[in-house]
Amino acid sequence: MSGTSFDIAVIGGGIAGLTAAHHAALAGVSVAHFVEDGLPGGLVMNVGALDGWPAAGPVGGAELAAGLLAQNEELGVTLVPSRIDTVAGGALKTLSGPDGAWRARQVIVATGAALGTLDVPGAARLAGRGVSHCAWCDGGLYRDAEVVVAGGGDAALSEAIHLGQFARAVTIVTRGETFRARRRYVSQVAGDERFRLRWASEIVEVLGGDGVEGVRVRDREAGSEEVVACRGLFVFVGLVPNAGLLGPEVARDASGFVVTDAAFETALPGVFAVGAMRAGYGGRLTQGVAEATSAAERAAARCDD
Ligand SMILES: Cc1cc2nc3c(=O)[nH]c(=O)nc-3n(C[C@H](O)[C@H](O)[C@H](O)COP(=O)(O)OP(=O)(O)OC[C@H]3O[C@@H](n4cnc5c(N)ncnc54)[C@H](O)[C@@H]3O)c2cc1C
Repeated sequence: MSGTSFDIAVIGGGIAGLTAAHHAALAGVSVAHFVEDGLPGGLVMNVGALDGWPAAGPVGGAELAAGLLAQNEELGVTLVPSRIDTVAGGALKTLSGPDGAWRARQVIVATGAALGTLDVPGAARLAGRGVSHCAWCDGGLYRDAEVVVAGGGDAALSEAIHLGQFARAVTIVTRGETFRARRRYVSQVAGDERFRLRWASEIVEVLGGDGVEGVRVRDREAGSEEVVACRGLFVFVGLVPNAGLLGPEVARDASGFVVTDAAFETALPGVFAVGAMRAGYGGRLTQGVAEATSAAERAAARCDD
């Protein structure tokens, strides 16, 4: 299939990419959707019940992604189970990856972001042996145990609340003096003694032999350190954009997120960026879906020119 040309290429199999491919196909143009390893879902793949998703009842991330993928197939979207490493501009853009090269008139990049890691001693060594990024996957392993969550945003608090169903105690360590999360999450953890809150603090070491046994926490104001015993550490300390496929001509903000205009077009004409990789993204699935819809319709309209 390498070498084929399409009207629109969508890169990234998260909810923003699935939505962009969907709306481009609804507009009646030919669409290729590049989904790394053929596995859709992205950051919400393992979230068992999505918050704020407009549906008749609870929907999981994997279920939502699988449903969109199936609908896209029916609409005639060509699924390409490949990563894309570079996007070169021009009237016809060239997308290249380990499995070949493709051409497209318009490109929508929705490659999202990766969860940030803790750059402290012990964190990498104990990854997968108590250090986790997924409460929905690993929470059940910590029934009646003590766990620590690093972070203070929506993802940290929603995952901490999920862990609260299993763990005896959940200590939340946040660098800030307040949380940057939905008020509903904040009041849930503030009013429940299972949650222990460590404000203005940071984890400086993850301790343990074959598995996590504790974390060393530093109070950022006092400078004092204390060991908090735990069997699991769940890390939600921000996002790192997956933007390496775009060249230096595409502007980034100071944290590496891709800058676009109000219509989600990057500095490379005909190349759009939507969702979690974009500077100014609101962080909610519904916002990613809105961006993807808008970019897909604009890109499809260009194909009529
Ligand atoms: C733990 C957690 C829970 C959350 N829960 C909710 C919630 O309940 N409700 C809500 O509204 N929001 C929630 N969010 C936020 C939500 O996950 C994001 O806003 C949304 O998933 C972003 O979607 P995206 O498609 O832009 O990016 P992503 O989900 O990151 O998807 C990007 C995809 O692109 C792929 N990719 C990356 N690079 C390449 C490449 N070079 N070539 C091809 N493919 C590539 C990635 O593998 C990935 O599959 C949560 C976030 C986290 C971390």
